[in-house]
Amino acid sequence: MSLKRIKKAAGILGNLLFPMKCPVCDNILNDQISMLRGRVPVGICYKCAKTVHYIVPPRCFKCGKQLQDGAEEYCTDCRDAEHVFIMGRALYEYHSIKGALFRFKYGGRREYSKVFAKEVVFYLGDFVRRVQPDGLIPVPIHTLRCLKRGYNQAGELAKAIGREFDIPVYDKLVVRKINTKPLKNMSPVERQNSLKKAFILGENVVKLSTVIIIDDIYTTGATIDAVAKVLLTLGPMKIYFVTLAIGEGI
Ligand SMILES: [Zn+2]
Ligand SMILES: [Zn+2]
Repeated sequence: MSLKRIKKAAGILGNLLFPMKCPVCDNILNDQISMLRGRVPVGICYKCAKTVHYIVPPRCFKCGKQLQDGAEEYCTDCRDAEHVFIMGRALYEYHSIKGALFRFKYGGRREYSKVFAKEVVFYLGDFVRRVQPDGLIPVPIHTLRCLKRGYNQAGELAKAIGREFDIPVYDKLVVRKINTKPLKNMSPVERQNSLKKAFILGENVVKLSTVIIIDDIYTTGATIDAVAKVLLTLGPMKIYFVTLAIGEGI
């Protein structure tokens, strides 16, 4: 059997064992219903898509956060902050998808990554192709946290997106040395301080010129900036990010 056939068979078996579920209602996806939405082969189901707030223009020129006023270029966060990354995009406004993200992160719903990756292809495909990254870098979690949860949700997401676009994933290039406390309820400065020494360069160091950092949620950008700083110790690099959700005060 050719490699292509083996991969296809493995894909079919995988879908039987772990059928694709709509991350919002957690029901098994019916391809035909999803297709009613348009060209998305499998994504968030038709019913739930109406309840999710997809980020649409006008967006913050830097972090992609939803802007209300088209005359503005930047969100309030980016007007005050100096970011290490060049620019980024997110799919959803955080509060409209938080239940799905919670299950993806803590509820063992690893398989949501496939659906989210399809959504990235459909809604952010142009952005990813324009950036032309030579690698995807998931935001790492600490080994202990990974053992507890069973997987790193950002890593699963990066792998699924990488498969869709055929971009390699470097999930050992940056590692999380310190198991930081949840950043929730911390001010932007506190977040930065907490993350200062959280990440270090890992093994398998490679020379990359353009990367996209992948994570599930973007709030102030402190985490993405901290990972970006570590990457820049390797030399000049164009750094972008893609996250599933973006929001303020989370
Ligand atoms: Zn649904
Ligand atoms: Zn912004």
